[in-house]
Amino acid sequence: MLDKIFYSTGKEGETLKHSAAFAAMEQALLTDPVELSAKVDRELVKFRTQLLDRLANGELDSTPVQRTLARLQPEHQSLYTSAQNNLRKLWDQTTPFFDKQRIVDAWVDVATKRLGLRGLHAWLARERLEFDFDSFPGQFVTAILENWRKFRVCGNPNCPGKFFLAKRSNSRYCERGDCTKYAQQQHALRWWREKGSDKRKGRKSK
Ligand SMILES: [Zn+2]
Repeated sequence: MLDKIFYSTGKEGETLKHSAAFAAMEQALLTDPVELSAKVDRELVKFRTQLLDRLANGELDSTPVQRTLARLQPEHQSLYTSAQNNLRKLWDQTTPFFDKQRIVDAWVDVATKRLGLRGLHAWLARERLEFDFDSFPGQFVTAILENWRKFRVCGNPNCPGKFFLAKRSNSRYCERGDCTKYAQQQHALRWWREKGSDKRKGRKSK
């Protein structure tokens, strides 16, 4: 029964193969609906953050990206490519707000107008409208909604994963060791150019 609610794909085998983690959520829902809702929220939010990070920073055919996508219903390669391009555009601070909104609107269309799948459900147990847990476009667009205000590009030109989620609104560097070091060097350089040159001038005029 819950299978039908959570996964509207007709093929059982396919569902099981892709969603072992999500199947555990179903099981928990059967035994403790109240606790599960909180658990599902935590798991999904964590998963969606990971989906964004992997998709923005990784190559589509890399193992981490493939592993993350394997938890969702498989999609055509071109859909993943568009998702990656759109995501990087959303991450770019220079993209106009209206363009960002249009990208998100288009993904809602993709997520709801799926051949043979409902995609969007009015969950009585969850008391909200929610996309299928294993729907790539559904989880992708939800992930964007939850995180887009934190999208930043790391200021270190050599950053290995430059698209990051900022913990503070003024974060300019991701918090990897090398990037933190780079940030400190930049800070020291700036200080030296501004204050240091004043000092040097001061010394000369004495
Ligand atoms: Zn970085």
